[in-house]
Amino acid sequence: MNIFFTFDYELFLGNLSGSPERCVIRPTEALMRIAATHGVRFVFFVDSGYLARLAADRVRHPALGREYDAVLRQIDTLKRNKHEVQLHIHPGWRRAIYDDGNWKHDNERYRLHDYSKTEARGIVLEYARTLEEAAQGKTLAFRAGGWCIQPFEHVAEALWDAGIRIDSTVIPGAFSSTGTHEYDFRTAPADSRWRFSCDPAREDRAGRFLEIPIGAQTLGPWFFLKFSAIKLLSKSNSGRFSQFGDGSPIGSSKGEILAKLLKKSVAPISCDGYRSQSLESSYLNAARKNPDADFVVIGHPKAQSRYSLENIDRCIAIMKKDSRNRFTVFSEVAKE
Ligand SMILES: [Zn+2]
Repeated sequence: MNIFFTFDYELFLGNLSGSPERCVIRPTEALMRIAATHGVRFVFFVDSGYLARLAADRVRHPALGREYDAVLRQIDTLKRNKHEVQLHIHPGWRRAIYDDGNWKHDNERYRLHDYSKTEARGIVLEYARTLEEAAQGKTLAFRAGGWCIQPFEHVAEALWDAGIRIDSTVIPGAFSSTGTHEYDFRTAPADSRWRFSCDPAREDRAGRFLEIPIGAQTLGPWFFLKFSAIKLLSKSNSGRFSQFGDGSPIGSSKGEILAKLLKKSVAPISCDGYRSQSLESSYLNAARKNPDADFVVIGHPKAQSRYSLENIDRCIAIMKKDSRNRFTVFSEVAKE
């Protein structure tokens, strides 16, 4: 399989944004150590809105200047170690307010679609440029913040002009309509990659963009029950299951939690926290179905735990045993 380990490199967008040290710097160092052990490359989708605010506000807040330098140093280390840095956008950073070590997000305008087409274009081009300056190189792959990429027409031209040729946002079969997270990938193809033009979830063989979707898995209510139990227990145990990131995510409504507890839902194949427990079985299923397909795993440095790092390490060792597997990154695909 063509295996992509992709990590969305970002702070939290809930009430507590978390510290850069614990949300990105330290867990990313741990991930790099695993990659080095196995001689593989990872992809980091860097939240360029965060980067843009650090760059803009560092003059007024010396602490943000130090944070900016630390993140830039890490991006440089990632690149020197052959990992790939690609574009991730949470446009809400534009309206975030920095208050004594914490960023306040209102999440009223969470998606690029909450801005006019002209504003959205400005955000895409500015953020892409900020990241390219930080990474000292072009980006060509994109992942939308919160998977909110539809309707694609709103951002297609801007992404193209920013140099984006590959998208990796779609989770085939997934659907969400929570007000912040709006996407419908229920009719996406089951193939491992396809070309598209006006909707990344719909194939258009003549399309100028390429979709390399995130792997999808169906989770039953039992999973979320087990997950909730572990979450409760992890507060009192030695911390093997506790995530490194010290912020808080955007809360789910009671209705959303209830829906997950009552029926099956489609979720991305994730190597985060407790979700990483099914990484091995997801991989084995996918490899059995089509050993030549893409296998894209999503994760977040902030959501890693000792447990998930163990699972990633073990799973890569298993994947490496099959000589047909190739650990790859998006710039390699662009060369094909
Ligand atoms: Zn994100």
